[in-house]
Amino acid sequence: MKTITNKINLKNFSLAELQDYMLEIGESAFRGKQIFNWMYNNFASTFDEMNNIPIKLREKLNEIATINSLELVSKQSSNSTKTEKYLFATREGHKIESVIIPEHERRTLCISTQVGCPLDCKFCATGLMGFTRNLTVGEIIDQYLLTSKFIEPATITNIVYMGMGEPLLNFDATLKSLNILLNDLGNKIGRNRITVSTSGIPQKIIELADSGLRVKLALSLHSCFDDVRNKIMPINIKYNLEENIEALKYYAKKTKTKIMFEYIMLKDINDRKEDLRALVKLCSTIPSKVNLIPFNSISHMVSGGLSAELEPTPREKINEFAEQIMKKNIFVMLRNTQGDDIAAACGQLAVKQK
Ligand code: SF4
Repeated sequence: MKTITNKINLKNFSLAELQDYMLEIGESAFRGKQIFNWMYNNFASTFDEMNNIPIKLREKLNEIATINSLELVSKQSSNSTKTEKYLFATREGHKIESVIIPEHERRTLCISTQVGCPLDCKFCATGLMGFTRNLTVGEIIDQYLLTSKFIEPATITNIVYMGMGEPLLNFDATLKSLNILLNDLGNKIGRNRITVSTSGIPQKIIELADSGLRVKLALSLHSCFDDVRNKIMPINIKYNLEENIEALKYYAKKTKTKIMFEYIMLKDINDRKEDLRALVKLCSTIPSKVNLIPFNSISHMVSGGLSAELEPTPREKINEFAEQIMKKNIFVMLRNTQGDDIAAACGQLAVKQK
């Protein structure tokens, strides 16, 4: 475990907080704006690069503050697609992952919000890691800033909060990072290009709706039946489907957005005729779309239990499922597996912590 200095991390601040901090240390608020610009638009990783900041202030900041939350440990690229997986270490040495998925003109960054995850979804490698801690705002934001450096001249066009962890269980940091990306950065990435994905925490879905951020929201649905969901997503025992659907209706109405239902296709578990009927019925009650996702192997993490028994629905059956949904005039996307050769596909992110 590394020794951590207690220097203040400026990436945990919003723009307004950074300006206030400058006033607090006897500088002008304008310096806050300049530093913000260096961090977010020029991707600076040291104060010494900030050449329009007086040397005396740079020296002072070097003593009392930092702008580093994460360190890049390694980067892997998929042979079959151009998906890239980034392994980062926090300042005390915890490991997290982020993924960049290129698709046509899009560059989607999938970011993590927790070290591990407490929710133990049976189809997800991160859940099998257990939970260490929430990420700070700076650690969430640094995934965007550090990966942005590698994809120049193209920029990240979309962000999905779908990496390691449940974003709504790290609500304050998630919300603040969204505010920085959307408001402080002046809409560099539009709200319709940012998606928060949740396993279903109703009270926090309502709070996110009330935040006014109007980002897109995805629910990891995976079954329309509580008994099935209880088995594959234990969080459903605490917050069942009915409570979640009520919260999602509120979200859709308040934000005027469609809810994305994420649905990992699991053989004989959620790909039966009754599952199809229930999914179509659910979609008729709420403005929504469906994203069908092939199940990606998590054999790199699993040793036994239900997780070891899960199998993917065959591709022909997924296609048939999608066709039936489309016939009911429901928008359905069929996600291609991206980056499974480097364990970067949906549900595969996991790092062994020391
Ligand atoms: S699917 Fe999401 S909420 Fe469930 S264990 Fe994995 S990271 Fe956590």
